[in-house]
Amino acid sequence: GDEDLDLATTPLRPFAPLRTESKWSDTTPYSAKKKLQSWIQLSNGNWELGKVLSTSGTESVVSLSEGKVLKVNSESLLPANPDILDGVDDLMQLSYLNEPSVLYNLQYRYNQDIIYTKAGPVLVAINPFKKVPLYGDNYIEAYKRKSIESPHVYAITDTAIREMRRDEVNQSIIISGESGAGKTETAKIAMQYLAALGGGSGIEYEILKTNPILEAFGNAKTSRNDNSSRFGKLIEIHFSETGKISGAMIQTFLLEKSRVVQCAEGERSYHIFYQLCAGAPLALGEKLNLKSANEYKYLRQSNCYSISGLDDAEQFRIVMEALDIVHVSKEDQESVFKMLTAVLWLGNVSFTVIDNENHVEPVADEGLTTVANLIECTVTELKLALSTRKMRVGNDTIVQKLTKSQAIDTRDALAKSIYSCLFDWLVEQINKSLAVGKRRTGRSISILDIYGFESFDSNSFEQFCINYANERLQQHFNRHLFKLEQEEYIQDGIDWARVDFEDNQDCLNLFEKKPLGLLSLLDEESTFPNGTDLTFANKLKQHLNSNSCFRGERGKAFSVSHYAGEVIYDTSGFLEKNRDLLHLDTIQLLSSCKCHLPQVFASSLLAQSEKPVVGALYKSGGADSQKLSVAAKFKGQLFQLMQRLESTTPHFIRCIKPNNVQSPGMYEQELVLQQLRCCGVLEVVRISRSGFPTRMTHQKFARRYGFLLLDNVASQDPLSVSVAILHQFNILPEMYQVGYTKLFFRTGQIGVLEDTRNCT
Ligand code: ATP
Ligand code: MG
Repeated sequence: GDEDLDLATTPLRPFAPLRTESKWSDTTPYSAKKKLQSWIQLSNGNWELGKVLSTSGTESVVSLSEGKVLKVNSESLLPANPDILDGVDDLMQLSYLNEPSVLYNLQYRYNQDIIYTKAGPVLVAINPFKKVPLYGDNYIEAYKRKSIESPHVYAITDTAIREMRRDEVNQSIIISGESGAGKTETAKIAMQYLAALGGGSGIEYEILKTNPILEAFGNAKTSRNDNSSRFGKLIEIHFSETGKISGAMIQTFLLEKSRVVQCAEGERSYHIFYQLCAGAPLALGEKLNLKSANEYKYLRQSNCYSISGLDDAEQFRIVMEALDIVHVSKEDQESVFKMLTAVLWLGNVSFTVIDNENHVEPVADEGLTTVANLIECTVTELKLALSTRKMRVGNDTIVQKLTKSQAIDTRDALAKSIYSCLFDWLVEQINKSLAVGKRRTGRSISILDIYGFESFDSNSFEQFCINYANERLQQHFNRHLFKLEQEEYIQDGIDWARVDFEDNQDCLNLFEKKPLGLLSLLDEESTFPNGTDLTFANKLKQHLNSNSCFRGERGKAFSVSHYAGEVIYDTSGFLEKNRDLLHLDTIQLLSSCKCHLPQVFASSLLAQSEKPVVGALYKSGGADSQKLSVAAKFKGQLFQLMQRLESTTPHFIRCIKPNNVQSPGMYEQELVLQQLRCCGVLEVVRISRSGFPTRMTHQKFARRYGFLLLDNVASQDPLSVSVAILHQFNILPEMYQVGYTKLFFRTGQIGVLEDTRNCT
């Protein structure tokens, strides 16, 4: 019988840090010689299938579709897979694992709305940008009964549940990808599956309702995604011993608070502002002195108020209902809306010059009085906090008047603080509501939805933090796959030393080394009153040039060789963003408010500023606050996250965005390729060639190729038959290894045997 080839259904190989080279040269001469179907790269960069008509010297003549004939360099041809492998479930089943083959396989499936594909243990999900009929109770039921096997978020979530029960080990589902790739949707799909299988107590319903709340307060329309998460999120879902969901805990990372006071043309601030303006019931609106969105400067500046297909007023009702469900009291809800409205009115506060030294004072208009009313302080207190700063000089306190730009910065800092404190407070309330009882005997499944690697034309502090986090996550990914791989090799008695694996430790060292690493140097420079972005950049160049992952660039820039490619960072704004100054005057203002939320915010801000953490303290010039720098805080959170993930069995989902215009049916090869490289899928595949990715049991190998043997060895055991075949066909010793149960081959080796077999 012609049984299907079942090559390499085993885990992927971990991979080296990405070097930009991505040549797949191993089998090229062979495919050209044999006139096989090949991939030809056209001048526009896309790959097309062609057939080799003739080869002479280094040149081949190939025929493409529609009768086109082309002369190309033989070396540039890449072998294509036989048609029977079109659209395989798992990329590792491909005989040829080159880039065009991987791209083609994913596209072949995507065109049929099969958006999920495995790459060994990794699930690749390509955003369909439309409703696809793959979800809902029937599908959930089918995956639960295992009557469907095709790759799916449900399947990977099901595996997590099973492994949690079987091994009694906590699990994690780590979702990554670019903005707009579908991480948040994927996380919700996984949560729905967990809720369906672990539901019953009712708490699952509450857990699902955290999504509309966090999306309202933490998501915004950006140029890349109408519903972009501007924070990272880990949700840990707990199960009782009986397998029912017993509670959950949410941790968030690095909310982009600058969006509250400024956002780019065509983008929006956080959804909740527009929802509130559009959907607040009349009585509430009157109480808050709420106007429509276009009356607020913070919302007006980007000239974008609505999102097509989305009804903000309707969303507001959904959010209010969700707040009820997670037990935020009506009274607290009203305080939340007060804070939001206060932020909006703060943006309308303007300043006028009061003396010939350019000092200013806020204009006593509707904006100023409304803010004071909402946060419940006096107009005088608010005025003072927005136009003066107390400074300590020795033992004295002096009051300094602010200039217009200082006052605007102070006002914006207050708005950002109120908003980010509000966000944190909400998460805390949700956590209280979802809290698992004191007896935490059960197990958990965590879902991580975190921004992927970013590389733009200009990269700033935010990309610096995000890419650092991704570097850590990548190491976690590497190590996990490495471990899986190692276990398999060792189990089969294979010489482990002959497989090369690298990791991204050098790049992590560049970030983390003390005292001479990117993070330490950034914090050090942030503590110097006279430190500037330029002095910071110069220090980096002075101290880090010996690290192979670092390169000083012109002016204030430097570049880092990340696993996913090189990124040039512009240090402009690094120090200010890292210091994230909040003056004590502002904190004092909040603590003097009668409204309870500002008081809560003040004490949490104070707790942050006074916590003496060695190595992460700074005193800024003139300002009298000491606090953890943003980078230090982020690093702390990241370490905590990694520690938590270390103790779990991870499952990886890589989301891919097939086009930049959020449209269904468009598959841009170059864009997909670049993401496959960044999220490690292609690297996994690339490195597989340095190991022994093709595996077949001795039985299967003997059955399939045994008849090719010249000597009759029918009576012999499969292992001896296998070895005899290898010898007869002169397969070089470095091209395979013989394990206890399996043969392990380098890529492409099976092709020769297959050809012989098919010709016989
Ligand atoms: P960001 O990093 O900006 O938060 P993201 O990776 O979380 O991006 P999502 O918000 O999950 O991206 O997805 C963007 C949009 O893509 C969604 O609003 C939705 O319209 C569409 N989308 C994503 N996944 C799916 C899916 N499985 N089915 C249908 N549409 C999807
Ligand atoms: Mg998201």
